[in-house]
Amino acid sequence: MTDLTALLSEVPTGLLIDGDWRDASDNTTFDVTNPATEQHLATVASATSDDALAALDAACAAQTDWARTSPRTRSEILRRAFDLVHDRAETFATLMTLEMGKPLAEARGEVTYGAEYLRWFAEETVRHYGHHTTVPEGTLRMTTRHKPVGPCLLITPWNFPLAMATRKIAPAIAAGCTMVLKPAKLTPLTAQYLAQTMIDAGLPAGVLNVVASASAAQVSAPLLADPRLRKLSFTGSTPVGVNLLKAAADNVLRTSMELGGNAPVIVFEDADIDQAVDGALAAKTRNGGEACTAGNRILVHEAIAAEFTEKFAAKMAALRVGDGMAAGTDIGPMIEAKAVANLQSLVDDAVARGGRVRVGGGPVPGPGFFFAPTVIVDAPREARVLREEIFGPIAPIVTFGSEAEAVVMANDTEFGLASYVFSQDPSRMYRMADGLEFGLMGFNAGVISNAAAPFGGVKQSGMGREGGAEGIAEYSSVQYIGQPDPYAG
Ligand code: NAD
Repeated sequence: MTDLTALLSEVPTGLLIDGDWRDASDNTTFDVTNPATEQHLATVASATSDDALAALDAACAAQTDWARTSPRTRSEILRRAFDLVHDRAETFATLMTLEMGKPLAEARGEVTYGAEYLRWFAEETVRHYGHHTTVPEGTLRMTTRHKPVGPCLLITPWNFPLAMATRKIAPAIAAGCTMVLKPAKLTPLTAQYLAQTMIDAGLPAGVLNVVASASAAQVSAPLLADPRLRKLSFTGSTPVGVNLLKAAADNVLRTSMELGGNAPVIVFEDADIDQAVDGALAAKTRNGGEACTAGNRILVHEAIAAEFTEKFAAKMAALRVGDGMAAGTDIGPMIEAKAVANLQSLVDDAVARGGRVRVGGGPVPGPGFFFAPTVIVDAPREARVLREEIFGPIAPIVTFGSEAEAVVMANDTEFGLASYVFSQDPSRMYRMADGLEFGLMGFNAGVISNAAAPFGGVKQSGMGREGGAEGIAEYSSVQYIGQPDPYAG
């Protein structure tokens, strides 16, 4: 049995500025609550605008020396951090379950997944090659090299408190950038513990500064207005992302935006139905449905809709809802009461428009913010549940009659992050990939995130890629040097 008081006492609750944990300049704090019990977990310093600027001062002061460190030095810090996160895996996993609610088994999965970004970018750091060639006319030799973009503001959401932070911090370190991280107010503890772990791995003071705040705008507004900041990397909802992009435009900041999703799960008549049911279930219920990659709309060919729906509904009905700390829990609490109310309004809207609830359909009594796994059939195209990001365990199932119709239905959204296709016909893979306007496509797979893969969306799901060989490029500027070719005639 974990001693939670001892565990929480290991987590710094101040602001990390220039290597020191300190109180907010006006001594304000905010509370972090367990969404499964509604009990108080910790009280954390709340950064003011002055604190945010002090964090940027520290990042700017550290930038020149940090950019000059050898790739091997940065790589080994990342690799040590990877090892330390694994050494501390149970603490990280427990913290995530406590502050965010996901079942402990999934939190352990996030530790493995989140740590992989540290290992992947440790490996990428020493292989970030430039280019040397002669221009076509033979008159110049050209060299291209990568330079760090400079101090970055990293803003992360609450749903993957570790992985969304390592996905930004690791490539920024790899490229030689310094940074100010603002974690989500609902889940700052994992990020604070990660920051301490990075220091323990040897990260120099000022390279990573962390400013949690009850008021996100107090941190973001002065930093985005400051010409010393060179980059914004944001993961969160599309409306907040749009406003931050507007603010970033004034300083022509480099931006990476990982925004909302509305993923279709498309099941063809030739799919292995059991594989498709399990894949759709994983895509829908991972992280309680609180994932940008979550299967939002399940589109099933009419020839197999009855069989698919029956099997899928049975599995949804069998999921156990409860405190993520309890053994056997499949679906933890939603992040806050507001989220439960929104899920209920999506169900009510679908029913009012003619949809039918096959499984679940409402909240599970608290304390805690629980919602029953829910399956809705026959919701019309205009139903909010098909148009908005659900962010919870509600699965609307709709039918289609042809591949062309499936593509049109899947693309009928302003979002373009993840999509999933289930079919045993391999020739469909590239045809569907051509037709689908999404940055990611799983083919007979319901979970495809990986540190080695470029993750990111199109349309209003954002721009830029995290992970993969592409991830480090987001934190680098390419510089071209031209010199006369000594042999040019
Ligand atoms: P959110 O947009 O409410 O908040 C995200 C972050 O932005 C938090 O740190 C929050 O404090 C901060 N923020 C909020 N208002 C701000 C402001 N005015 N100025 C500066 N920062 C501000 O999103 P959320 O509810 O934390 O996360 C859920 C959303 O994130 C969903 O839409 C989900 O799809 C998206 N998401 C996307 C990805 C991806 O990779 N595309 C991954 C995870 C989550």
